[in-house]
Amino acid sequence: MNTCLFCRRSNPATRPEHIIPEALGNDELVLHGEVCDKCNQFFGSKLESFVLEKTPLAFWRTFLGIRTKHKHLPHVDLSQPRKSKGRLPAVHGLHDDGVGFTCHEDYSVSADVDNTNIIRGIVGGARSQFTFVFTPLVLSMMGRFFCKIGVELVCLDDPQRARSQSFDQARDFARLGNSRSLWPVFHGQSGTIQDLKKQQRDADGLLEEVFCYEYRLLEVASWTVLVFTVGTDAWIVSLNDPYPTPAILETFAGPKLDLIWYSPGELNQRRD
Ligand SMILES: [Zn+2]
Repeated sequence: MNTCLFCRRSNPATRPEHIIPEALGNDELVLHGEVCDKCNQFFGSKLESFVLEKTPLAFWRTFLGIRTKHKHLPHVDLSQPRKSKGRLPAVHGLHDDGVGFTCHEDYSVSADVDNTNIIRGIVGGARSQFTFVFTPLVLSMMGRFFCKIGVELVCLDDPQRARSQSFDQARDFARLGNSRSLWPVFHGQSGTIQDLKKQQRDADGLLEEVFCYEYRLLEVASWTVLVFTVGTDAWIVSLNDPYPTPAILETFAGPKLDLIWYSPGELNQRRD
């Protein structure tokens, strides 16, 4: 019997582990017997639920009308918590709180604004956009989420390789996080909104094809890299080296990549 890919214990591993959450539309890409039930439970209830509710992935899930695993239409509230609870800053003054999105039965999407200042701004014509701030907590959780998916994709192909030392840091970061450092997440734009919904309705008025996510696992020079696209956002992480040299940016053709980052010093300065 394998030990758990993440905690390395011989805990029972009876539940299927969805590599990409069901709430993004995945019901095929699954690991069996590789991730223990405790880690499986942790990823579902703490990590994936956060990423699917409080990051740009939440927006895309709603915008594209990807139903929850219980087949409900998605809606999200992108408000930050009132106070940071853990060690990572989770609140930023420039973030627009009280903004959410709801997908309706006809797959139209509304913005739900519960913030008087923002409503005044929109009504008065001074505002047409919402500001989303990537706090250290958001970036840390996204890094953990992508590390989890990436290592599990390696495992799908080769369970022994996924357990090798090269992926130790990514596995630990996914499972435990790190309050002193983030995992670098590179971001680029991929495609257009028009590309995402193709032949949205067939003769019966049903949704035909919506492209929500796409993933690729690449070997680039000495790096094993996950490219994960959700909506028009491409997210890129190196799985076997948390601090790749800037050369990694040059190896990707196409749109320019940015690194969204806080230094370890900034992580310890709580802003709220
Ligand atoms: Zn485990």
